Amino acid sequence: MHYLDNAATTPVPEAVAKTMYDVLVNRFGNPSSQYQIGREAKVLVDDSRKVIADALACEASELFFTSCGTESDNWAIEAALWQNRRVGRHIITTAVEHNAVLEPCKWYASQGYEVTYLLPARAGNIAVSQVEQALRPDTALVSMMLVNNETGCVFPVAEVAKLLQSKGSQALLHTDAVQGFLKVPCSPKELGADFLSLSAHKIGGPKGIGALYISPRVPHPRPLLPGGGQERGLRSGTEATAQIAGFAKAVELRVEDLSEKLRHMAEIKAYCRERLLSIPGVVPVGQGAAPHILSVSLAGYPSANIVNELSGQGIYISAGSACHQGKASHVVKALQLDKRTAAGVIRLSFGPDTVKEDIDALYEALLAHKNSRFPML
Ligand code: PLP
Repeated sequence: MHYLDNAATTPVPEAVAKTMYDVLVNRFGNPSSQYQIGREAKVLVDDSRKVIADALACEASELFFTSCGTESDNWAIEAALWQNRRVGRHIITTAVEHNAVLEPCKWYASQGYEVTYLLPARAGNIAVSQVEQALRPDTALVSMMLVNNETGCVFPVAEVAKLLQSKGSQALLHTDAVQGFLKVPCSPKELGADFLSLSAHKIGGPKGIGALYISPRVPHPRPLLPGGGQERGLRSGTEATAQIAGFAKAVELRVEDLSEKLRHMAEIKAYCRERLLSIPGVVPVGQGAAPHILSVSLAGYPSANIVNELSGQGIYISAGSACHQGKASHVVKALQLDKRTAAGVIRLSFGPDTVKEDIDALYEALLAHKNSRFPML
């Protein structure tokens, strides 16, 4: 198998699975129970939170577990708009956010909010000047992802935070860092973000667990799930102890020699780019700086066909985001590519275990695909 879709999800290292198994079978207490195994489970949750908070260089008390990145994004938007309900009803976001941000924005638009969607340049980047132009006294929220999941472009979140401060804006800043965490610098304090969303399954953790950083600038956040009082009363529900421990273990593993892992991924990306662009008709899509995501287009060759054919050979790639399930991606649309280029966009994404042989297999398969078919557009 050649797995080249690490932006969709990542393989779970055995050590993470073993940690989770141990929690499920041997350390199954409820963190709210007062007796020994309950107290142990609470320590496990607290320790895990500390591991992740350390990787973000924030306080453990500022980090809340959720069920996924989508939940974190939804909660951040809801909490920011509630906190700033007297500031106004204007939201600034980008046209290339994940649907976990775009759909809640759409819902708020149906409730009377006005949403400004910033369009990326051809290379996929967004400029801080676009935020400056869109900013209004009634802007309650700016939501800008840290790394785009299709182009790998890194957005200027820290510069946006500085802009908001210099303008005296009351807008709160949310960043969806699901693709940025442990790939690019991602400390909410350094970025100046008020909310920052994470998901474990993009970094070798299990699916079904995420986290949201909430800054002290939001001292009394709107609770997402009022109930039994877990997560300091803001996100009730018995803690997913095995998932939480697996998340922390995955972070621990990634943080070990992180710069070496990132260097390796960047090298793989450069190698992949060079090999694929040597195929006649393959063109780059976006100029993302993140080390793990590369998009290219086999112009004129529908990407769904490429993905299907390659999967038959055990090579797993994506036609844009995995969440689109074959539909034209809104990111590709926002890049305003010509029809032939847009049709052939594929995304390759790498992890610490990706090797050059994976890229060579992809190269051979793409070459064969191109030589065996006529372009359909
Ligand atoms: N945000 C981005 C940028 C993503 O890439 C994803 C997943 O693909 C999500 C949010 C959603 O995360 P989850 O799958 O944990 O809900």
